[in-house]
Amino acid sequence: MDHTVQVLNNVRLETGFETENGIVTGTRTGLFSIEMENGLFRSVKEQVPAKEGIDAKGLLMLPAFRDMHTHLDKSLYGLPWKAVSAGNRTVKDMIAMEQQMIPGLLETSVQRSAQLIELLQSHGISYARSHFNIEPTSGLRSLENLLRVLEQKKDSFAAELVAFPQHGLFYTDTVPLMREAAALDTVQYIGGLDPYSIDGSVEKPLDFTIQLALDHGKGIDIHLHETGASGVQTIDYLIEKVLENPALRGKTCISHAYVLAVLPVQEVERLAERLAAAEISIATALPYGAATMPLPLLWQHGVSVLSGNDNIQDHWSTLGSGSLLYKANLAAGLYGRETEWELSRLLKMATNGILPLDDEGRMQWPKAGAPARFVWTEASCSAEAVARMSPVRSLVHDGHLVF
Ligand SMILES: [Zn+2]
Repeated sequence: MDHTVQVLNNVRLETGFETENGIVTGTRTGLFSIEMENGLFRSVKEQVPAKEGIDAKGLLMLPAFRDMHTHLDKSLYGLPWKAVSAGNRTVKDMIAMEQQMIPGLLETSVQRSAQLIELLQSHGISYARSHFNIEPTSGLRSLENLLRVLEQKKDSFAAELVAFPQHGLFYTDTVPLMREAAALDTVQYIGGLDPYSIDGSVEKPLDFTIQLALDHGKGIDIHLHETGASGVQTIDYLIEKVLENPALRGKTCISHAYVLAVLPVQEVERLAERLAAAEISIATALPYGAATMPLPLLWQHGVSVLSGNDNIQDHWSTLGSGSLLYKANLAAGLYGRETEWELSRLLKMATNGILPLDDEGRMQWPKAGAPARFVWTEASCSAEAVARMSPVRSLVHDGHLVF
């Protein structure tokens, strides 16, 4: 933490939308002088000439990016390039493969997690929700290694952690480990995985997960890949339980929820309404191809959507870049959003909802007192940053210059 006041000059901030006949045609920006103190913004003022401080040279300041679904503990990034192997693999096949690989990966996971964080930082990310493996093969070692890396990086990166029973709660004997992890202050979320297809029941694993979260005051974030009837049942059951337990509202998330991509519109709408009522969010890495996630329907119904890179390079997927501007750009392509206003709104996929301008074009970020976490990009406005996936030239985390 830096207790001296730091001054940033010639920072470009968005100040409003330009409109013609009520239609947004562009984004107005201005140059500002910004003070930071103790990791927070201290003041945001219009630039006056010749002040001492760091010169942003007119680069656009945007909120630092936040990766809301990743696995920092378990990646092949940092090892020689290797694409995923061919052939259809079920989640259970992958569990068997992991049981073989994990002991070796844990030997070097501290160093590789650090490299993965550095890759994310190079794309302007300074915060992540990271799942970490917890199963009999890893025990708590994956968590311990990840905590070591986060301690090393604490000035430049922060994370919230999800205890992820990747090999099932009961399919492998993971329940005692989950109880241990749930008692730790370093763990904020209780994870889960495909209750029906891995553990043979929708209710039993979810009941355990929910009770564990309630007992320890944690949130929930479960992986749900199931696309059949059990996928819908899992979502409905979780909604029911969160409605019964208000402590879980706003703290419960379903990651992937691929079933939403294959259901008829009416069924998606029914679930979206209920998800919004229970304040359950959906985390996505924005898959595309055979089926596309119905994010516009979720947004329309007020469901909070988190986005993340998920896999960067590992045995599950090889296509990760580390860039969240790429995810925002991908959403623009998938959902046909090309106007200035639409593109500017999609920046939320990179910032976990924080936007410099509100929907009407009023300035809402940065504000004095908020954490000084931001990037400087070579773009004239948010819309251009999303459309061009503009290069990030600087990242600042809690007032600390990362690069
Ligand atoms: Zn995941």
